Amino acid sequence: MKILTVIGARPQFIKAAVVSRAFREHRPDVQELLVHTGQHYDANMSDVFFDELKIPRPAHNLGIGGGTHGQNTGRMLEKLEELMLLEKPDWVLVYGDTDSTLAGALAASKLHIKVAHVEAGLRSFNRRMPEEINRILADHVSTLLFAPTRLAVKNLRDEGVPSEKIHPVGDVMCDAAVFYKQHARKPIWFDSLCLDIDKFVLCTVHRAENTDDPDRMRGIFQGLEKSGIPVVLPLHPRTRAKLKQMNLVLPSNVHGVDPVGYLEMIWLEANCRLVATDSGGVQKEAYFNKKYCVTLREETEWIELVEAGLNDVVGSNPEKIAEALQSGRKFLSESYLYGSGQAAEQIIARLVKTVEVKTVADRISQD
Ligand code: UDP
Repeated sequence: MKILTVIGARPQFIKAAVVSRAFREHRPDVQELLVHTGQHYDANMSDVFFDELKIPRPAHNLGIGGGTHGQNTGRMLEKLEELMLLEKPDWVLVYGDTDSTLAGALAASKLHIKVAHVEAGLRSFNRRMPEEINRILADHVSTLLFAPTRLAVKNLRDEGVPSEKIHPVGDVMCDAAVFYKQHARKPIWFDSLCLDIDKFVLCTVHRAENTDDPDRMRGIFQGLEKSGIPVVLPLHPRTRAKLKQMNLVLPSNVHGVDPVGYLEMIWLEANCRLVATDSGGVQKEAYFNKKYCVTLREETEWIELVEAGLNDVVGSNPEKIAEALQSGRKFLSESYLYGSGQAAEQIIARLVKTVEVKTVADRISQD
């Protein structure tokens, strides 16, 4: 059995790391080929994850990045189609909601290759987000949809996806949090900032809806400043470029640093007072680390966190941000909203079962 996994962006490296490891541990007979589209290419946005999380080197690197959504998706489609024709995989595996997800799912479905989408069914109901378009389209051409939450299952059913395609397996990011916790690492620069453990805010901002809008960017940084709490801000390359373009200088309480590797990120999440973010993954990691999350967006796909009172969606309004950060709200929850850390095993069991059932059926029909 051959699986072709298409990845290209930071969160996909982390998600693929756990599934890929599960293949190697539980089904070494399965051949998994990793294809890196090149969407994220900086060393600290790509290589560090392959090195730290021991992800096998990609069999193919398409080197496609830095263009517009249309350019990237179009170029990926062309290259992925060539590769899929060459490799003839049984399954194409895609993750999340990036241009790489859409290109992988679309190229495979047009070649009648089965597509499995991990992190299916998430919806923000905001179609101005490129991620929302990518995830809706990827879901609707997929053969198997691995949903991380009950709400994701409901969203898919509401859109008419047949129940037999939907598999609630939990969240592979929960698997990652459980497995890598023991390997969390303090960044070497942390002590030089002279911050107290549990007293700083960990912040990330990278969504186009924020970085492309100078008013929102200003609002967010004013809010961080107003809070008066020290903030550690690993800066996504896009955010760094936009800050420069907008002539925005970081407030003195905000410590901008280069993007960190996952092991350092989970150390920061475990040791901060609370999290402020527009990232999808970081909202959940706040929860895994029992930290309250202030979400710098107008909506979130992770509604269950909001309903549980663990996530405050505040947008870019400076007063609301400052107030939420200062509220000192404590994390009170013992729930398991995203499974128990065994999503990857369930995913591979399902993929393998489908191929084995088909092989037996083929043999019977040939006899
Ligand atoms: N992350 C990281 N280093 C950073 C910032 C984020 O390793 O400097 C990790 C984070 O822990 C999470 C993932 O990247 O697992 C989230 O990716 P991102 O915020 O880029 O994308 P999203 O989750 O919004 O799709």
